Amino acid sequence: MVEILKNYSSPNFNERIEEVDTLVLHYTDMTTAEAAIERLCDIKSEVSAHYLIAENSAIYQLVDPYKRAWHAGLSKWRGREKVNDFSIGIEIANPGHSCGYIHFPTEQMNSVIILAKQLIKQFNIKNENIVGHSDIAPSRKKDPGELFDWKILADNKIGYYHNLPQIAGKILYNPGDNNMDILQIQKKLLQIGYFIEPTGMFDQLTTDVIIAYKRRFHQLNVDDNWDELCHASLEQLLKLYPEL
Ligand SMILES: [Zn+2]
Repeated sequence: MVEILKNYSSPNFNERIEEVDTLVLHYTDMTTAEAAIERLCDIKSEVSAHYLIAENSAIYQLVDPYKRAWHAGLSKWRGREKVNDFSIGIEIANPGHSCGYIHFPTEQMNSVIILAKQLIKQFNIKNENIVGHSDIAPSRKKDPGELFDWKILADNKIGYYHNLPQIAGKILYNPGDNNMDILQIQKKLLQIGYFIEPTGMFDQLTTDVIIAYKRRFHQLNVDDNWDELCHASLEQLLKLYPEL
């Protein structure tokens, strides 16, 4: 049994109306865990998360998981909006893209795995509903980012991943392109859970979603084109994610 510290509590929550079935992972985007805890527990910030995992691997519960915390903001996943209503949010301490993004230490990742496993069991959370903040708000958010090890989570049965190498493939499409193949890619990304309009146009929203997809599934090549490796990984993932 993992030790969950309850030294701090956030006033930023409401009662739940919907049942929990989704887990959202974040980074704090602040220089220290202490600074992040202070912000997440400040009534004026109007943000919170259920848990925070410090750099040293300590796990803090800030909001009871049976209450609704305020971590996701404007968000959408697998056809549902307001992800706060049905999710648990874990903040993972990291300076993030704002304050000097760094690799997540092994002991911190071990705590992520332990806590996620416990919550998956407690709330019967399915792999298709284990997401990063950038997956559910791709036009606004980058966290937990391309240095977060989603593969090791999947190896521990937390979320899905592919088994392709992290290399760039031949570029197939770029922003501004417009064709039937892009329409099919959009439909497949929608099937995974991303919110995207199937138009056939490689527009701004499509670009944002593709960057979010690569931040999670092609972490060494986070850019705005769609290449052969993306095509191959999406086909693999589609076999794992259940139909909407
Ligand atoms: Zn976040």
